[in-house]
Amino acid sequence: HQPKPGHEWAIEPAPLYDAPYYLGSKKLDGKVALITGGDSGIGRSVAVLFAREGADVAIVYLAEDKDAKETKSAVEKEGGRCVLVKADVSDRDHCRNAVAQIVKEFGRIDVLVNNAAFQIHSSDFGELTEEHFDTTLKTNLYGYFHMAQEAVPHMKPGSAIINTGSVTGIDGSKQLVDYSMTKGGIHAFTRALSGSLIGKGIRVNAVAPGPVWTPLNPSDKEAEDVSKFGADTPMKRPAQPEELAPAYVFLASPQCSSYITGEILPVVGGY
Ligand code: NAD
Repeated sequence: HQPKPGHEWAIEPAPLYDAPYYLGSKKLDGKVALITGGDSGIGRSVAVLFAREGADVAIVYLAEDKDAKETKSAVEKEGGRCVLVKADVSDRDHCRNAVAQIVKEFGRIDVLVNNAAFQIHSSDFGELTEEHFDTTLKTNLYGYFHMAQEAVPHMKPGSAIINTGSVTGIDGSKQLVDYSMTKGGIHAFTRALSGSLIGKGIRVNAVAPGPVWTPLNPSDKEAEDVSKFGADTPMKRPAQPEELAPAYVFLASPQCSSYITGEILPVVGGY
């Protein structure tokens, strides 16, 4: 049932089929991955697992230099090269310069992981300030858009974009109204962009985590109900960041997911 030689596809399949899938293979061998917010939490565990699967990693980060340096040495321990680029994803010029610096270093981008996000819990909708709202939208929506638009010209057929969405983008969270709004937007962005880039052979998917134990969430000191975090999932606990990372490898690797695009993959403990 193979098409005859010279068959014209509506969209040419990307040249992905040279490496059969088998467990234990380096599923991202020779790939270059750009991970925003790759210095902490989920992004950091993705950076380390990508390196273990054979990728070189560029980390775009804003917070502590110390965290970034620690992540770089963890990536290098796995055998991957790692560059750190300090940039604010909500700023278009920062995104442009970050991508230029990474392309100068590695020559191209095979996987873009849009993951950096801003979140503040608020028990009262009326308390959300306009400044807070702006920062949430600019980081979580503009940031993903800017990075994708800057990176795509450097991505070849067979490349992948993975956006970190959230279960709040599906169900909404009453304490995270603005954040939920951006995460729903990220899911729609994922579906729309997958259609837009399909002719270029670039797949676009999202991972939608449930509760994950990372610095994004209130610490013991800040929240009285921290022990309840994740308790409403059927597994009755939050995920560790390392439990998210394999989903990103799956969506990044053509060996695993060459026929999957425009999907939102929930990793939510059965929620
Ligand atoms: P985290 O705080 O460990 O990581 C967030 C990262 O984003 C940090 O490295 C931070 O420096 C970076 N960042 C924030 N604003 C930035 C900006 N303007 N420019 C560049 N970098 C910036 O948190 P995490 O939980 O690992 O979050 C990673 C992703 O997972 C986010 O998209 C978040 O919305 C999503 N998520 C998290 C949870 C959870 O429970 N932790 C649940 C669902 C979705």
